[in-house]
Amino acid sequence: MQEFWEKNKVYGFDANETDKPSYSIDTPPPYPSGDFHVGNALNWSYFDFAARYRRMKGFNVHFPQGWDCHGLPTEVRAEKTHKIRKNDVPPAEFVRMCRELTEEYISRMKQTIVRLGISTDWKLEYRTMDPSYYKLTQLSFIRLYNTGHLYRGEHPVNWCPRCETAIAEAEVEHQERHSVLYYIEFGQDDRKLEVASTRPELLPACVAILVHPDDPRFKPIVGKKATVPLFNQVVPILEDPDVDSSFGTGAVMVCTFGDKMDVKWQNKYKLPLIRAITENGRLAVEDPRFKGLRTEEARKRIAELLTGQEKITKTEPQTQSVGVCWRCKTPVEIISRPQWFMKTRDMTEDVVEKAAKLRWVPEYARTRLNDWARSLDWDWVISRQRIFATPIPVWYCKDCARIILPDENQLPVDPRQDSPPIKKCPKCSSSSLTGDNDVLDTWMDSSITSAIHAGWPRQDDWFTKLFPASLQPNGLDIIRTWDYYLLVRSLAMFGKPPYETLLINGMVRGTDGRMMHKSYGNFVEADEAMNRYGADPLRQWAASGGSTGSDIPFRWTELDHGKKFLTKLWNIARFVLTSTPVIPESREMDELLLLDKWLLGAVQDLVKQTTEHFENFEFNLALEAVRDFTWHTLADDYLEAVKYRLAPEANIDDKKSAQFSLYETLVTICKLLAPICPHITEAIYQQVPKSNTMAQSIHKSEWPTAETSRFDESIAKQGRALLEVIALSRRKKADSGLSLKTPIRALEIYTNPEQLTVLRENEEVILRTLKAEKLILAEARDFRIEIST
Ligand SMILES: [Zn+2]
Ligand SMILES: [Zn+2]
Repeated sequence: MQEFWEKNKVYGFDANETDKPSYSIDTPPPYPSGDFHVGNALNWSYFDFAARYRRMKGFNVHFPQGWDCHGLPTEVRAEKTHKIRKNDVPPAEFVRMCRELTEEYISRMKQTIVRLGISTDWKLEYRTMDPSYYKLTQLSFIRLYNTGHLYRGEHPVNWCPRCETAIAEAEVEHQERHSVLYYIEFGQDDRKLEVASTRPELLPACVAILVHPDDPRFKPIVGKKATVPLFNQVVPILEDPDVDSSFGTGAVMVCTFGDKMDVKWQNKYKLPLIRAITENGRLAVEDPRFKGLRTEEARKRIAELLTGQEKITKTEPQTQSVGVCWRCKTPVEIISRPQWFMKTRDMTEDVVEKAAKLRWVPEYARTRLNDWARSLDWDWVISRQRIFATPIPVWYCKDCARIILPDENQLPVDPRQDSPPIKKCPKCSSSSLTGDNDVLDTWMDSSITSAIHAGWPRQDDWFTKLFPASLQPNGLDIIRTWDYYLLVRSLAMFGKPPYETLLINGMVRGTDGRMMHKSYGNFVEADEAMNRYGADPLRQWAASGGSTGSDIPFRWTELDHGKKFLTKLWNIARFVLTSTPVIPESREMDELLLLDKWLLGAVQDLVKQTTEHFENFEFNLALEAVRDFTWHTLADDYLEAVKYRLAPEANIDDKKSAQFSLYETLVTICKLLAPICPHITEAIYQQVPKSNTMAQSIHKSEWPTAETSRFDESIAKQGRALLEVIALSRRKKADSGLSLKTPIRALEIYTNPEQLTVLRENEEVILRTLKAEKLILAEARDFRIEIST
């Protein structure tokens, strides 16, 4: 089927289409990691359900696949694969290694995506590492700089000493860590002042002691000075309402920088800045006792020396939340050095206001974005000290520090190796110009995807049609990164949000209930699941796992259930197609027998329900409705009751009525199921006898519409009553030890007058289905069935 789709170009976006409305999906470009586990299969299935449904609804669907190539994970992998550190080889060589790995991972993931039956338009594939893409990242940088949204400045940032780069707040994870709280004695005139800290290695960068203004213990010494042990710098004792007097001794040391509070206090009291930690995580002091020690070594060393001088009065075990690098889990440090920032703090209210007007599925995901936007203390640091990333398109004058940007038409540029765009500084005429060696945060690449899909920087009709994206589907875990960054970039560049509806999927848990993770051993590759069950059962698991946004457990039994359903559907289709070898003549509703009318009415009800579920992204409910209908209404109830009418000797008119109803029903349920199970529905559709007006692929056919005229409340009631009687008679037969195929002499049914009318009009179906020679119908107060053999 996949070959058939590819050969016939079933899915592409049509750039010449003028009649159909467009529907653009801004799918998140993944990091090419090479892995594609069932959690990824869930994401991609959601994108695809939405894409296939909209296509059948008559939209010109724009469904690209991108690859967010840059970033730490690939650099870390390249370092591991080649057993080097990034600075051991020339940058161009390191970039080549990263590109090579990236291509390999992309091809592996792409295979799995195709195998899962995702209807991506591969014409629209893009890689953020390609010059044609990062040129646009650089263009957006220049435009944002020119409109005052970016600035270069020295401000403390979160820093990973292992990866040796700045990282954004969104990239800091929090972990519980055990540590020791040291009570350290500072000198204060003739008295002693105790300060508790878990990080004695920051003593050389201590710039003040703070106490709470209402704390009577410290009143006499506020405004005086204290001497730092071992390092002997003299620091002021100040009061500040943010001090927590219940922690430690109630006096806290301010070091530049231990944490974000230190940054606030240093700024508030204009304290000096002493660099505590180097960029590779070592103590930044000249003191030969500690120079070059790593933070943990320095902590141990300083604690030992303090103990030797009897300056540590007490130690306590402490559990604390430590910020760690999202990629390598090393505790982050706060380091100040020149960086590029985007002014995002000023945008918080605008973000919250605009987010309120968007459609969020589920609704509560919006709160995550709002909470995140409001929690940010610092602007977004967009520069990184990495190699494999988009170069920052900036040169500087070495003499007057003037910032020099290239012209838009000179892009892409790599200031790390290209010569500057101009020979002389426009301000001081110096010819001593130097390129920026830093690169951009990878989220700078991926937070303009929706505009790039729409053809930006072109501002033509297509841009208007495709931007903002109709749908932004992504996991709960990247709301604070991707959804947030996309929103701020778009508000700054275009003055409006980059998407209309956000579809947020939950995370997949392993069979043991924990989050799926390689190190937990509960990690299931999508390929493994497909090797065992095929693509459509895996997609059914993705659809049925739970309501949108909730965490979903991975269960093999769900795939097993999905596969059984496919077998059932296949068998039904074979029966229908064998008994309906040509397109049946179309019939009006009043030309049909009761059960046929009833079935087509039930199909209309199913169409209505399923359409609503797809509109609301309730994939689990849509799938359940179709599966339940197929298994019970169609197979158990209807088929069993009409089989005799499809036999060669059956009455020709009754046969045609059944054929028409079955054909219509089979084609309709296949269409309703096509977004979730694209392979089997296409395989069935290809065998269905087709008229010239029918589409060549089920995925190009129109979504069924609910014709309310076909649904008649009283027909539904009568059909239900008849089927109930048939089901009860069958059970009676089974209870009497008779096989369903065994002929019986007579069937007696005693029931109320209303039901009797229905039964009288449908004597034949009862006789034939129950294999009875004679049917006796009589009125009675209590319902009763008798069988005589
Ligand atoms: Zn790191
Ligand atoms: Zn200059």
